[in-house]
Amino acid sequence: MKEMILMTPGPTMVPEEVKKVAGAQPLHHRTEEFYELFSNLNKNLKEIFKTKNEVITLTSSGTGGMEAVIANLFSTGDKVLVASIGYFGERFYDIAKAYGLDAELQDFGWGNAVDPNVLEDKLRNGNYKALLVTHNETSTGVTNNVKEIAKIADRYGVAVIVDAVSSLGGIPLEMDEWGIDAVITCSQKCLMSPPGLSFVALSERAWKMAETSNLPKYYFNLKKAREGVLKPNPDTPATPAVSTIMAVAKATNMLLEFGLDNVYKRQATYGKRVREYVKSLGLELLPEEDIASDLITAIKVPEKYKASEIINHMKEKHGVLITGGQGPLKGKIIRIGHMGYVTEEMLTKTLEALKDAIKE
Ligand SMILES: *Cc1c(COP(=O)(O)O)cnc(C)c1O
Repeated sequence: MKEMILMTPGPTMVPEEVKKVAGAQPLHHRTEEFYELFSNLNKNLKEIFKTKNEVITLTSSGTGGMEAVIANLFSTGDKVLVASIGYFGERFYDIAKAYGLDAELQDFGWGNAVDPNVLEDKLRNGNYKALLVTHNETSTGVTNNVKEIAKIADRYGVAVIVDAVSSLGGIPLEMDEWGIDAVITCSQKCLMSPPGLSFVALSERAWKMAETSNLPKYYFNLKKAREGVLKPNPDTPATPAVSTIMAVAKATNMLLEFGLDNVYKRQATYGKRVREYVKSLGLELLPEEDIASDLITAIKVPEKYKASEIINHMKEKHGVLITGGQGPLKGKIIRIGHMGYVTEEMLTKTLEALKDAIKE
């Protein structure tokens, strides 16, 4: 089977070195060898999350991490505000509702970023316990200014929960410095690994909230998971996705060796390059330039083209997989993911494939 280039918002490309590790015989999770590897991973994750708190590894996709945060921090009827700018904001709202929170959806519009003034008005008058927000809205290619959002929430004593599933390890996010209470990410986006794991970090305030939470949880019990992480020989309460843990340990070593600042710089270059190229083809971006994501680019599909035909052409003729729109944007946009392990070569091939598809 010929390998396809995945220019999607996850799963993303996995470097050779990581593939080797992921394909090896899994370690047993109650051995010295595993404890050492898991310690190393936990140390790496703290550096990437920019936190002194423990990072919890859960065997689930990113959505499981979001659910774990809701189930562990809140109680029935807790009032939360979901500042949504697209598909994944709405998912956070759905999870909060499913767990019986008094959740309010503030929709800033698909393709927009959170408007700080509107948010401030809501928080000033709302008496919310927490604000739920997406860092990088993968469905629209928009990045929210989470630093500013967290500052506003802090003025009203509102806890800030950030879905960083498609952003952590790709663009700057400083959990402790920015005063964020919960950050969630996963293995298959910026962390250059196969799917299977989500990662969650909580602030001291969030761990306190976890003390009084009355929502049901068993597998996704973060307090129990933290006990495992804090052991001299750290482990997980149940069998984890060992192969993915091995992969992420390797991938995060590589990421930190390359340097987070260098990753951010590279992503900024990639984002700009894709946007300029797209515009040079006469196509329009969905979001305004100043809020456009450096990890994923959403492109409007002109009337005369069909999104599915562009995607199929790129896949069949060029072996490059991109994605279409979700929800109300289905058929209206195409999305090129350029997060995680993306080489100049892959990017060039993708842009040329796009040009060819448009021409055809
Ligand atoms: C991909 C993604 C998710 C969901 O992650 P899964 O691993 O598919 O469960 C949540 N939020 C954002 C912003 C995402 O990009």
